[in-house]
Amino acid sequence: MKLARFSYEGRTSIGKVLGDGIVDLEPVIPGVNGSMRTLLTKLPELRAAIEAHSGTAIPLSAVKLEVPVNDPQKCLAIGLNYEKHAQEGEQMGIPRPAVQSWFAKCVSALNGPFDPINLPRVSEQLDYECELAYVIGKRCKHVRAEEARDVIAGYMVANDVSVRDWQLRSPTTMIGKSFDTHAPMGPWLTLADEVPDAENLGIRTYVNGEERQNSNTNDLIYGIGAQIEHLTAVMTLEPGDIILTGTPSGVGIVLGKWLKAGDVVRIEIDTLGHIENVVRAEP
Ligand code: MN
Repeated sequence: MKLARFSYEGRTSIGKVLGDGIVDLEPVIPGVNGSMRTLLTKLPELRAAIEAHSGTAIPLSAVKLEVPVNDPQKCLAIGLNYEKHAQEGEQMGIPRPAVQSWFAKCVSALNGPFDPINLPRVSEQLDYECELAYVIGKRCKHVRAEEARDVIAGYMVANDVSVRDWQLRSPTTMIGKSFDTHAPMGPWLTLADEVPDAENLGIRTYVNGEERQNSNTNDLIYGIGAQIEHLTAVMTLEPGDIILTGTPSGVGIVLGKWLKAGDVVRIEIDTLGHIENVVRAEP
């Protein structure tokens, strides 16, 4: 099942995607009020009704898709987690981390799957990073890698948009990763039971149709299980929390190509769909 947040006729709701249509789930998820975090918290009890619900499908072309999880408690991301990307980092003088390298991406940066990305007023070093994102479905702490699948609600396509000068001139990455609009994701949340192997999916970035990144999640250095074991040694993960798994090689800083106003950035992951965002000057 694919769950999307969408706006239609002045209202934002959650629906299930069926082919090129979406069925509003409002009648069977009372009290959710368009909050994916709330829905995920209640999903064990609501799931049967959601699956059984058959309403009129609205064409996807008639709705605006919104960021699937609008109100997570946190959004975390791991850096330098694909082998070839770690190599290109080393070539630029960024040492390969000896342990999992985590940073927070502030939730105020969340953005819809087809909404504009801001070219900041204070930088021209705007860059893309295609990433597989997963969303936590169950409150958890001290999860072993082998059991990590049980706490994942589903998967999304994400762009870990980065402002390189702000990122690299500070000892922590957070500030250059958290500009408004710099966490577009979606187009919907594909629930985990529809993704038999999240660590074997093709992942690609195109800028104005030109291929920039083309890899597979089977090249992750630290897999999803190891990530969840590491994170939950430290903190409780909650339903709705979003985790980005790193980007492969081919980022703009290495190619010497920054994103400019008017550029169209498309990121796709096998079976999860695509997101597409236009760069605009920050209003
Ligand atoms: Mn990243």
